[in-house]
Amino acid sequence: MTGAALGVLAAGEWTDGRLYPGTGELLALGRSLDCGEVSVALLGDAPESVCREAVSLGADAVYTASHPLTGDGDADADVSAIAQICGQAKPRVLLFGKTAFGAEVGPRVAFRLGVGAAQDCVAVEAEDESGRVVVTRPVHGGNAMARLRFPDADPKVAIVRGKAYEPLAADGSRRGEIRRVELEPPVVRTRRVETVESRSAGVRLEDASVVVAGGRGLGGPSPFEQLEELAGLLGGAVGASRAVCDAGWLDHSYQIGLTGKTITPDLYITVGISGASQHMAGCSGARHTVAINKDADSNIFKAASFGAVGDWQDILPSFIETIRELVES
Ligand SMILES: Cc1cc2nc3c(=O)[nH]c(=O)nc-3n(C[C@H](O)[C@H](O)[C@H](O)COP(=O)(O)OP(=O)(O)OC[C@H]3O[C@@H](n4cnc5c(N)ncnc54)[C@H](O)[C@@H]3O)c2cc1C
Repeated sequence: MTGAALGVLAAGEWTDGRLYPGTGELLALGRSLDCGEVSVALLGDAPESVCREAVSLGADAVYTASHPLTGDGDADADVSAIAQICGQAKPRVLLFGKTAFGAEVGPRVAFRLGVGAAQDCVAVEAEDESGRVVVTRPVHGGNAMARLRFPDADPKVAIVRGKAYEPLAADGSRRGEIRRVELEPPVVRTRRVETVESRSAGVRLEDASVVVAGGRGLGGPSPFEQLEELAGLLGGAVGASRAVCDAGWLDHSYQIGLTGKTITPDLYITVGISGASQHMAGCSGARHTVAINKDADSNIFKAASFGAVGDWQDILPSFIETIRELVES
């Protein structure tokens, strides 16, 4: 990108008239970098209330851009729109959330702009006055953290894990500018033939503050009804290990881990999960882990703050009853 780059642009997401919570997290991260204007790009016909919400959460400016194909899951159009907004905003740092949108559009925008992208970042920091940016990301299935420094070219594109940053408290008195960008029509090489809505009852696994997950130790699909019951009492979501999904007990949208979803709940309850490194890669950001497993040497206990060694059939029913009494009292 030519010209002096400054500031941070967050590729925002919104739905049903509200900002996606992860966009508030990106704005808080943008402010922490302290390198100039913090702006957000909102694709589709973002209503003014959504733009104002972004301002209240830390945006100095909101770039809105709309074309019949943008903001509606057409990645070619979204890549083109974000790249064009970058041409106008000239950010030093371009942030995406680690969502379906960010994971697909982020690296493609970076490629289009001729720069690199760092996936799955848990921290993004300004190293010094020179404007160098350093990211931290898990490597080797979450067993080690790597710190990577971007080369000098701008923008530095980082795709950031959900809940790695706390959004700022909304401040309705903040002022920000809304800038409408006229888009060049995108070159679209793919055509969406069908949209299939995935229906999940209750809270999404990636957003849940409580996750109750089961593994092969449950022995089959029916015990997951008890996990659903426990998750329901705690207002959480159910997840699973890959062994469960590979066995067809649950579909792969439940899978947590290296090749599944990354979760960052406050409380992660596992039942009959061994804690293989590929599983832990998706849940190492959990604040507290509670494990029920009959093998005291199981790897999951290394991550657990609390654990019960024994057969889940002896432990889980009384655990659920105790939680029910606590919740209902
Ligand atoms: C490239 C690659 C990517 C992978 N990606 C993922 C991923 O994204 N997510 C993932 O989860 N895995 C992933 N895996 C698989 C991973 O290595 C493990 O095989 C998997 O996580 C094991 O699942 P599990 O813990 O349910 O089963 P197991 O390892 O079989 O563990 C079952 C556990 O249940 C306990 N148990 C058995 N009976 C009972 C009982 N009655 N009461 C209480 N406890 C009991 C056992 O002690 C054991 O610890 C990946 C593997 C590879 C090679």
